[in-house]
Amino acid sequence: MGASAPATSAFAELQRELRGQSRHWLVTGAAGFIGSNLVEALLKLGQRVTGLDNFATGYQHNLDQVRAAVAPAQWEQFQFIRGDIRAPADCAQACAGVDYVLHQAALGSVSRSIEDPQTTNDVNITGFLNMLSAARDAGVKRFVYAASSSTYGDHPGLPKVEDQIGNPLSPYAVTKYVNELYAGVFARCYGSETVGLRYFNVFGPRQDPDGAYAAVIPQWVAALIRNEPLFINGDGETSRDFCFIDNVIQANLLAATASAPEAVNQVYNVAVSQRTSLNQLYGMMVALLRERFPHLDQHRPQYAGFRAGDVRHSLADIGKAAHLLGFAPTHSIEQGLAVAMDWYVGSLTA
Ligand code: NAD
Repeated sequence: MGASAPATSAFAELQRELRGQSRHWLVTGAAGFIGSNLVEALLKLGQRVTGLDNFATGYQHNLDQVRAAVAPAQWEQFQFIRGDIRAPADCAQACAGVDYVLHQAALGSVSRSIEDPQTTNDVNITGFLNMLSAARDAGVKRFVYAASSSTYGDHPGLPKVEDQIGNPLSPYAVTKYVNELYAGVFARCYGSETVGLRYFNVFGPRQDPDGAYAAVIPQWVAALIRNEPLFINGDGETSRDFCFIDNVIQANLLAATASAPEAVNQVYNVAVSQRTSLNQLYGMMVALLRERFPHLDQHRPQYAGFRAGDVRHSLADIGKAAHLLGFAPTHSIEQGLAVAMDWYVGSLTA
């Protein structure tokens, strides 16, 4: 999917290495947006992959799309377990014989966590602890997990640097911060190797456009294509560091395989370090879709109230991941949006 990194990059080198040597990866949340893209990328690199998901917010059709995107021989390297990370036995079964865990399974969405903190806690903290324990017991080499930019909370500094965080603004943010604390404790108490990746507003193909907790880009693209009302929360000057999925795949693979000891048992920002306001985002998306959907000439956004738990501005310093992992984003927001819009046009108008 998308453009590949320059030939000399750490990621290009890693891809070459992986093509020559198959390892066994567990992707939790494999039927979700980020998980299914990780599964696809790994299978295309000739890796053996186990996927774990309970379809809470993921879909069988995401896995069907992966199957269609890879060669039959690559698909044979995939094994799917329908299971729940809240069940320790499911976690143990999934971790058996695995080299690397890429733990994505969680309940996302700040709003969902404000409405139902208990379930978010059960999945994101108890489930996380179950997975960390199962990975330790199975002798997994490294446990890479989806952390979140929400951990910066009310810290006013910009750009966000990993060691300067504020108070969490939502139950979701608490759970993601607790993940980091548990990962650190497992390193200190049991010698586990972990890496946390603080994703900043990831977007790309297969991100769910529907439902009350949809992320802004898929929600908006669906509204624009269907010519439905589109709401911008606040005044539209809220800003985010939108990160295309290919950059996230790169960060996961580099984090799992980094050999320098100082790169391990760390948390990293995963973003592009590019700030975009919601008003700018709206303009970019309309510009990419206007030719195909002439009704957009008349389309205007509607402004709604600010959302509880939202941070005003979010922008990452990605120097740490660049320095210790060799992370080099391949896609700016403009490049990523062009790929994502094409995909949504194909999938929502089919
Ligand atoms: P997603 O909802 O598409 O994927 C999450 C997957 O986890 C789903 O397939 C869901 O069914 C599965 N899951 C949920 N509860 C489970 C359980 N109890 N047992 C097994 N599987 C379960 O969301 P996503 O955007 O792909 O997010 C993946 C990870 O990245 C999450 O941990 C999320 O918190 C984190 N994250 C995402 C973003 C973003 O912008 N998308 C930003 C920061 C962090």
